[in-house]
Amino acid sequence: MTARLQQVYRELLQRFGPQHWWPARSPFEMMVGAILTQNTAWRNVERSIAALDDAGALLPRAMVKLSTDELQELIRSSGFFRQKSRYLHSLAQTIVNECQGDPLALLKGELSAVRRRLLALPGIGPETADSILLYAGLQPVFVVDAYTRRIFSRLGVLTGDESYSAIQAIFMDHLPHDASLFNEYHALLVHLAKVHCLSRKPRCEGCPLVGECENIFKTG
Ligand code: SF4
Repeated sequence: MTARLQQVYRELLQRFGPQHWWPARSPFEMMVGAILTQNTAWRNVERSIAALDDAGALLPRAMVKLSTDELQELIRSSGFFRQKSRYLHSLAQTIVNECQGDPLALLKGELSAVRRRLLALPGIGPETADSILLYAGLQPVFVVDAYTRRIFSRLGVLTGDESYSAIQAIFMDHLPHDASLFNEYHALLVHLAKVHCLSRKPRCEGCPLVGECENIFKTG
């Protein structure tokens, strides 16, 4: 399994090059983006981030001062804006109240304890928590998302109905615990899913993984 996972990584990196993730200028912006990107395309998140930035609200102390209506308006482009405004206010409030306004202080401590702390916040599930740990906290945690499940199911590594933690364990048990490797690997999978391994009709022609893929589409 180790050799297979490393081979996939090498092929993707060779073809696509480094992805320079996460596209954020600060740990708090990264956390905000991780919540806003739930169930929406990244281009919609970019518009919300730009609106928050223009309003000077990409700091926890500034965000908590926004009214619910103001915050909802600023993040409207990301969809589910009522829910997401509650999640963002809660995150910002926690950082202000418990971390003296320092987002990185939220991520300090023993990894599993920090992960539990994140998961206890509203709107933060395993994928969002692990994204924050990896991309804001620089912790060696492999992020699993729908793209990971789709690609590795088609490659024949997964059946597709494994749990989040079972899929994560496959990567964490067979790859070195290296935050920069996990950073790049996840970003490359997202890129592959967007340019080749599409949900309904994968564009297998030209895919760097076509030679080792067991999916039925590659001959279609
Ligand atoms: S060959 Fe096709 S199905 Fe397989 S990983 Fe590439 S795009 Fe996805």
